[in-house]
Amino acid sequence: MTTSPDDTAKTLSDLAPIRFGRAGMIERARPWRARGIARHVVLSSLAGLQRLSGELERGLARPRVHFISLHSVAATAENRFRLLLTQLARTHRFVRYSDAVDHVRRGDIDRPLLAFSLDDGFRSCLASLRILKEFGAYACVFVCSAVVNEKRLDSVSAFCRDRLGVAPTQFVSWGDLDTMLRAGHEVGSHTRTHANLAALGPAELEDEIEGSRAELEARLGPIRHFAWPFGRFFHIRRQVIDAMARAGYESSASTERGCHIVPADRSPPILCLRRDFIDAAWPLPHCLYFLARSAARASADAHLWPAELVPQPSDL
Ligand SMILES: [Zn+2]
Repeated sequence: MTTSPDDTAKTLSDLAPIRFGRAGMIERARPWRARGIARHVVLSSLAGLQRLSGELERGLARPRVHFISLHSVAATAENRFRLLLTQLARTHRFVRYSDAVDHVRRGDIDRPLLAFSLDDGFRSCLASLRILKEFGAYACVFVCSAVVNEKRLDSVSAFCRDRLGVAPTQFVSWGDLDTMLRAGHEVGSHTRTHANLAALGPAELEDEIEGSRAELEARLGPIRHFAWPFGRFFHIRRQVIDAMARAGYESSASTERGCHIVPADRSPPILCLRRDFIDAAWPLPHCLYFLARSAARASADAHLWPAELVPQPSDL
């Protein structure tokens, strides 16, 4: 068994902030290092070609609504994050998550608009929110209601290990979420327990999707947005979309790369959002590469669910 430094933690306050990449994962396999180096070289090359061809500049200038997904920003990556925000602020207007959703709904998309979201509700996301605020930006924080305010070290450790595959770290409290809301940020649901929704039956789906909304609303007021764990389309099924719509969310966010360029007036039965995942620790050209690539490839049906996930006329 791999030993992490936090195995010696006695209380929640002993836990380190969340770490991603090799340092934060519980299982550390040798091939990750080789893959990481290869990925760095390939992305640097692609980013260089994109810049030289003018695609970077054209992509970032394209009018669109672009949702960014982060977890939290490590202390060592805070200055890189500021650099990224400085760069993006030159060509984009930062908008609140709900306002971005409204822009997608109305098709009011005449300039590059960016909205931020932070998944999983790690307590270290508070620092990320403070940095966003320096740039006049806000985020929607997607939390798992079952672990909000969790103070028991063994529960937190088990959740991190079994649900997220990361070393133990603290999660936000109800007080933290109140503070975020008062500061202008938003809170969304990320289910109760970070379950793989594709694997659940009807009762469990209701508990994760509707149950998390009820728990959050009882403490925080209206919850408008949902982001499903793991975020890829193969992590949900048609029944999951139905459950999300029944629960009354206005939007559901994936981590399928992409952005929105046209009105979403045809979106049944709940608005599907694309998000580009960014790790602030990545080199700036890599972050910009993904955003410009998504902008260049944006299609008019980005807000629609894949055909295999929604009933087709022949199914009715
Ligand atoms: Zn998550």
